[in-house]
Amino acid sequence: MGPKRAELFAKELGIYTVGDLLRYYPYKYIDRTRIYSIAEISSTQTHIQIRGRITAFRKEGPKYKQRLVAAFSDQTGSIELVWFQGAKWVEKSYEIGVEYIVFGRPALFGRKLNIAHPEIEPAALFENNVGTSLYPQYSLTEKLRAGYISSKTFQKLISGIFQSPSLSIPESLPDYLLKKLRLMPLQEALHKIHLPSSPDQIKRTEYRLKFEELFGIQLKILRQKIGRSQHFKGFVFKKVGDYFNNFYKNNLQFELTEAQKRVMREIRTDLGSGRQMNRLLQGDVGSGKTIVAFMSMLLALDNGYQTCIMAPTEILAMQHLNTIRNLLGKLPLQVMLLTGSTKKKEREIIYSQLQDGSLHILIGTHALLEDPVQFANLGMVVIDEQHRFGVAQRARLWKKNVQAPHVLVMTATPIPRTLAMTLYGDLDVSVIDEMPPGRKPIQTFHFYDSKRLTMYGFLRKQIDRGQQVFIVYPLIEESEKLDYIALEEGYAGISEFFKPPEYTVACVHGRMKTEDKEYGMRLFKEGKAHILIATTVIEVGVDIPNASIMVIESAERFGLSQLHQLRGRVGRGADQSYCIMMTGYKLSNEARKRIETMVNTNDGFEIAEVDLKLRGPGDIEGTLQSGIPFDLKISNLARDGQILQYARNIAEEVLEEDPELADPKNRLLNKILKEMRTTQFDWSVIS
Ligand code: ADP
Ligand code: MG
Repeated sequence: MGPKRAELFAKELGIYTVGDLLRYYPYKYIDRTRIYSIAEISSTQTHIQIRGRITAFRKEGPKYKQRLVAAFSDQTGSIELVWFQGAKWVEKSYEIGVEYIVFGRPALFGRKLNIAHPEIEPAALFENNVGTSLYPQYSLTEKLRAGYISSKTFQKLISGIFQSPSLSIPESLPDYLLKKLRLMPLQEALHKIHLPSSPDQIKRTEYRLKFEELFGIQLKILRQKIGRSQHFKGFVFKKVGDYFNNFYKNNLQFELTEAQKRVMREIRTDLGSGRQMNRLLQGDVGSGKTIVAFMSMLLALDNGYQTCIMAPTEILAMQHLNTIRNLLGKLPLQVMLLTGSTKKKEREIIYSQLQDGSLHILIGTHALLEDPVQFANLGMVVIDEQHRFGVAQRARLWKKNVQAPHVLVMTATPIPRTLAMTLYGDLDVSVIDEMPPGRKPIQTFHFYDSKRLTMYGFLRKQIDRGQQVFIVYPLIEESEKLDYIALEEGYAGISEFFKPPEYTVACVHGRMKTEDKEYGMRLFKEGKAHILIATTVIEVGVDIPNASIMVIESAERFGLSQLHQLRGRVGRGADQSYCIMMTGYKLSNEARKRIETMVNTNDGFEIAEVDLKLRGPGDIEGTLQSGIPFDLKISNLARDGQILQYARNIAEEVLEEDPELADPKNRLLNKILKEMRTTQFDWSVIS
């Protein structure tokens, strides 16, 4: 191509080489086997193809922005073709009376249908082109369009490349893998992805390219994991000592579920292995992750190490403190809380006790990451509800020690498997896939605001039966002021309906002082308040088994994973629990789908999948901060889960056989890794 075009391609799409061009895949294909009659056309169709003749050209509009209009007809009617630019060229290229195939997007202009900037081809030529009925579409920028570069341009350029007899594209995957996995060779794949001859072929071609992409990522992640385990030794927790045994015999109030037992075994194996543990503990809300974390911490303490828990909110940190104090009972262990609002005097005590080793367990928020927090011998770190923390923050906890502590990352938001494999692919994963016995599935309802009184009546009935109620209001940063007003008004309205002395309503939100928050939470926790009104500060982790009703105000404003988290605050006791989502009448399609999903299922994984599909992986909460560090050209994490899983299995097999990729047959794989390194963010220190 000429220098002008070359510059456009480089600037607009980052395409500098033939290789770049071939790797610029179409985002969809339009099937052009069907030819419509003009009478059939409506403005709701996206792309159509018609066959007919131009009967006249004319110019319209003021001189400085004239447009060229062609009347185009077939036996059934006529339609206008419009050009806003390039009139001269158009008039020269197309003749009146010749039969053409016109392709484009119909639109309504006034009351007339037209097609702006259509693609036009002589019908005679088109007929000779059978077999190329699938037209690839490329995403283009305005500047490219202005430079007369269309999807068709791509098609021409690329078919030109493949007509060159000397073309030879080096294969990217080892021959033995191609054979074993029956993958199409790269050269064929790059050809057919742009110039396919059938939908079936597109599928096989995409499969090859997606596999290659996802396999590369998995290979990289797994290589990093191997590298890390060679690089970092872990503390060996040799013994199960008095703390653990004492707790297990005397303080554990219930029998662990089978899933909890299995995960404990997995963790104990890690802790004794001499490798540093980096484990992601996944389990739906209420599945009982805390107890598992706690018992793991006891193992660290039994071996003479300190431990800490980091939680995303102050309320959750406070709750962990209470839970852990209860669980510890009479065990002679020192526990302290460190958050943003810890007083200076107490901070000083914490800092010095951490350093002389007399403080055994530190619980806190981001405050744990601050520099003065230095441990004597930190052996184990638990990070709760980890989706709230970014990668960089996690990396800072590492540095608290000479030798890397064991890390247990807990997440209650079930990340879809595909995303977990990519984002946390270098962590080992344990899953608690079983709920403690006796839980009844939560019943979920959707009420419009107009049914508020009915809802209050329902609450009253439940409260009179001894149940407690959460009412949660959204709190979004951009509209914080308004949100607080809504909460205050809601509080007033509810207090009106649930009057003292019969009823007590507590309120907790981020603008309150720590003492007041604590007071509100305590009232509710001790069963002295019937209703707790709160912002999303209670979203994660809060555990109050007697609360069996969750009312979510303005539910349409919450994301799916948040809704699921909120609902997870109830359903923890033996009573039937309810979740009520309140919304206005006007709902966007997506909001409606979210609400419907919540009503239809309690399964966190299913919800996570829907969430991923609705929002796309880039936007899933948690990844907002850490981002997907890989640039996916053709795969889609929401849709290509199966290929991803397969790619991971194959990567595991390859590395098991040849961990260093030293075998000559794996030469190409080293090349893949090297190429990724230059383009992608290195995130080897994830936890
Ligand atoms: P999450 O996994 O959401 O963090 P928690 O650890 O807060 O869940 O546990 C939820 C509730 O279930 C707590 O009240 C806890 O005491 C209780 N629980 C945990 N494990 C069991 C079990 N095996 N049997 C009965 N109750 C359990
Ligand atoms: Mg929890």
